[in-house]
Amino acid sequence: MKLLEGKNVIITGASRGIGKGIAQIFGKHGANVAFTYSSSEGPALELEKEISDMGVKAKAYKSNAASFAESEELVKQVLEDFDGTIDVLINNAGITKDKLLMRMGEEDFDKVIEINLKSVFNMTKAVQRTMLKQRQGSIINMSSVVGVKGNAGQTNYAASKAGMIGFTKSVALELGSRNIRCNAIAPGFIETEMTDKLDEKTVQGWRDAIPLKRGGSPEDVANACLFLASDLSAYVTGQVLNVDGGMLT
Ligand code: NAP
Repeated sequence: MKLLEGKNVIITGASRGIGKGIAQIFGKHGANVAFTYSSSEGPALELEKEISDMGVKAKAYKSNAASFAESEELVKQVLEDFDGTIDVLINNAGITKDKLLMRMGEEDFDKVIEINLKSVFNMTKAVQRTMLKQRQGSIINMSSVVGVKGNAGQTNYAASKAGMIGFTKSVALELGSRNIRCNAIAPGFIETEMTDKLDEKTVQGWRDAIPLKRGGSPEDVANACLFLASDLSAYVTGQVLNVDGGMLT
C-alpha cells in the first residue's frame, strides 16, 4: 500500500544521510519529492534521478536553509514546479560544531543555531500560507535525543534541537484548528556521515549501551517520518517521537 500517493513533499538537506533515506522511502510510497542540498550537487542530482525513476516527480534545489530569503524563493519555485500544493514539509537540514563550552566560539554557536533552528522558522513561514489555504499539511522537524536530554560538548546543537521542540509544539497549537499538524522526531544514534566523524571505540560503546544493541539507520527514521507525514497519524500533533532504539528509556 502506498501511503503518500500524489502528495507533494519538501525535504531540506536530502543529498545524504537521513534526508536521503526519507526521500527514497517517500518516493517508494508515491510522493513527489522536492529536496534541498547545500553543496553536494553530484549526489543530489543522482538522487533526483533515482527517485524520478520510481515514477514520481523529483527535483533537487541548492538552497541554504539558514537564509530567510532563499527559503522564500525555494518555496515559490517548488510551488511553480509542483502544481501549487505542498502537503508535507520536513525540516531535516542540520550540522554539528561540537566543542566544550570553554572552547566554543561565538561563530560555532551562531552557525549551528542558524542552520538547525532558524531554518525551521524560515521554512515553516514560507509554506504556512499555502498550507493554510489548503486547510491541511504535516510539518515534521528533525530534532534529536540531545535536544531532549542535553549532551556535554554539544551546547550549541542541544540548544538548537531543544528550540525545535518548543517551536514544534507552538506551531501545533497555532495551526491545529486549520488541520495543519506539526511533530518532531528525536533520533538517537543514527549511523550517517554526521556520525562517521566519531571514533570507532566511542561508537561501539554507544551501540552496546542502546537497548536494541545497534545504531539506527536512515530508513528507521524515514519510516517514522512516513507515519507522521501520512494520514495514519491524522490525530497526532505537537508530539516528539523518539527513534532511538530505547536509548532514552
Ligand atoms: P548529514 O549526513 O551530515 O547530512 C546533512 C544534510 O543537510 C546534507 O544533505 C547537507 O547538504 C544538508 N545541509 C547542511 N547544511 C545545510 C544548509 N545550510 N541548507 C540546506 N541543507 C544543508 O546529517 P544526518 O546525520 O543525515 O542528519 C540529518 C538531520 O538529523 C540533522 O538535522 C541532524 O541534526 C539530525 N540528527 C541526526 C542524528 C544522527 O545520529 N545522524 C541524530 C539525531 C538527529 P550537503 O550534502 O550539500 O552538505
